[in-house]
Amino acid sequence: IKDITTLVNDLLDLGRLEAGFDTRREIVQLENIIGYTLDVLGGQISSRGMIVRFAPSPNLPPLKANPLRLRQMLDNLIGNAIKYTPPGGELKVRVHAEGGQIILQVSDNGPGIPPVDQPRIFEKFFRGENVPDNVPGSGLGLSIVKSIVESHQGRIWVESTLEQGSTFFVVLPAYLSPTS
Ligand code: ADP
Repeated sequence: IKDITTLVNDLLDLGRLEAGFDTRREIVQLENIIGYTLDVLGGQISSRGMIVRFAPSPNLPPLKANPLRLRQMLDNLIGNAIKYTPPGGELKVRVHAEGGQIILQVSDNGPGIPPVDQPRIFEKFFRGENVPDNVPGSGLGLSIVKSIVESHQGRIWVESTLEQGSTFFVVLPAYLSPTS
């Protein structure tokens, strides 16, 4: 039942995002949302003996974004890193600013994504061919993440090597206040 509820909610979210109904925008600090997400997922992280590396970077400009959607984006990216990486793995979250943009990287040292699958992982319902049967999922998470990123005028891509790990990159425009 929980899986069905999650599936229905994911489909509803995708519909809203694709219809352009996600218009709430606030000035937010991505680092705070990362910290919050790592707290919420802390139980899963420690029960898998995972090491987390997240160094806050000073003077990061804010974003104009929907904080709930950014949480959902991080939940999915960090959730995937946790779920696909075998126990004892490493999760790295990095964020920095460059040329008016905020660059987020979520890395793991898990199984990696086969090169043939890499162009398809952001498609709805797509699941990789190397995903073990016991790892649950609907194949919607990354399509939601991509819709969220695009509704914030951003870009997303992955760099991954089999048996070494994956890094997801998200680039979002920084909010530069009109008075500064
Ligand atoms: P789901 O996790 O439900 O399968 P997603 O849309 O979140 O759906 O991910 C799509 C596919 O991308 C996954 O099935 C998996 O093959 C691959 N993938 C995503 N994140 C990772 C990761 N961190 N490590 C390895 N494979 C990943």
